[in-house]
Amino acid sequence: MSTLKIDTIRKRVSKLKRYRIYHRDMGECVYCGLRGDLTLDHVVSIKDVIGVLEPCHINNMCNLVTACKMCNNKKTLHEKSMVLQYGRFKKGYPVQAVEYRLLVQEVLLQL
Ligand SMILES: [Zn+2]
Repeated sequence: MSTLKIDTIRKRVSKLKRYRIYHRDMGECVYCGLRGDLTLDHVVSIKDVIGVLEPCHINNMCNLVTACKMCNNKKTLHEKSMVLQYGRFKKGYPVQAVEYRLLVQEVLLQL
């Protein structure tokens, strides 16, 4: 199992993958709909699975969503009140951030 650092894993997301995720999420923060100051948010955070999952699984497309800096930062403390409702989630229905994380976690553990 890898002993890579959190930052190293974060940097391993290629430009092409970033582009694909922004495009998939329609260039909007999935939490608040903002179209600026966008970052990539690991749904299941790297620190929670580092050493448990392979880096390539941590950076799987299903574990990455587009989020503005503010939502990405506030997620640690306020995840319970957050909902994924913009970008690709517009087509379906709003998903509780906590519920979505559990789903993604299950998928990642089966990879
Ligand atoms: Zn946001």
